[in-house]
Amino acid sequence: MTALRNLIVDEIRRSGPISVARYMELCLLHPVHGYYTTRDPFGTAGDFITAPEISQMFGELLGLCLAQAWLDQGQPKPFTLAELGPGRGTLMSDLLRAIRIVPGMSDAVRLHLVEASPHLREMQRAKLENVVHLGDVSELPDGPLYLIANEFFDALPIQQFQRGPNGWAERLVGLDGAGLAFGLGPPMSIDLPGNEGDVIERCPAAAAIVNEIASRIARDGGVALIIDYGGWNGRGDTFQVVEAHQTVNPFDNPGGADLTAHVDFAPLAAAADAAGCSFGYTTQGHLLNALGIGARAAKLAAAGDRGAGSAARRLTDSDEMGELFKVLAIWPTDAPAPAGFTARRAQTKTESNETDA
Ligand code: SAH
Repeated sequence: MTALRNLIVDEIRRSGPISVARYMELCLLHPVHGYYTTRDPFGTAGDFITAPEISQMFGELLGLCLAQAWLDQGQPKPFTLAELGPGRGTLMSDLLRAIRIVPGMSDAVRLHLVEASPHLREMQRAKLENVVHLGDVSELPDGPLYLIANEFFDALPIQQFQRGPNGWAERLVGLDGAGLAFGLGPPMSIDLPGNEGDVIERCPAAAAIVNEIASRIARDGGVALIIDYGGWNGRGDTFQVVEAHQTVNPFDNPGGADLTAHVDFAPLAAAADAAGCSFGYTTQGHLLNALGIGARAAKLAAAGDRGAGSAARRLTDSDEMGELFKVLAIWPTDAPAPAGFTARRAQTKTESNETDA
């Protein structure tokens, strides 16, 4: 029995079943007992490992992609370099080292990190200089915005709707005796086809964040690279709870395990399009290959890094992270596409082809 479980049970007793979104929010970000609030979950000894923790090449290549976009857009000075959910700060530290080779760029950086966890903010401050922490993208300063987010959107709270015998209803977390259990709310008038048992997911927070970022990029220039696991259009129930690299029951250890959902990139691209930006969408494997991970791995290997080749394969192979992880790029319509991307149009049916660049 964790303290957080007791708080959640009390909340449900007081005011009824809670949404999956509320459950995620409490488990991940409760100010005292939340998963991210209290720990550093990354790495082999932690619950999961992320791309920047696998290899320095990840942050370096993405940094060079941002640098090319910065050069293409006339080297605006100063500019905001932002990251959403920087974790240990590893990606940003690798990125900042890589862009030092671009004359004038590092000096123009105003670094802003959007991070909810006080514990991780401290780790980021220890690793990076001149950091401004923000709680929310709406607090970003005006001006050109070069932004990166790796495995941030999968942690945003989702709503789930399930088709029951009487139509769609929201999937809720309620009580089954003394324990937590899934149930369904009252039937809703959602006009969508589906069979009984089907689940759809929505992440209103994600589209709102992309709308905010893309509006700024359309107005002031810049680029955003959003990397996460997921796909184009929803695929049913993807809510997942992971502890020590294993999928576990979502109610076993509230606040002690990581809760995520696949990111549906189609509504995020639609939000970027509606805000007046161009966008591109490709796989992590395609992008890193296009940015030259092969050559970078060979160089590191020649310098004595014996793990570089296998790290590159882990990041790019289709049966490792290469296909599951996707990248959405957002840029102003009057600027060239960032390296590795071609502009796509919103709401085209053929865009379900995920290997397309
Ligand atoms: N980008 C890092 C960490 C990914 S984990 C990496 O690739 O290793 C998710 C990160 O997002 C954590 O830093 C977590 O504290 C932060 N986070 C999650 N939800 C957030 C929210 N709603 N607002 C701000 N930060 C959030």
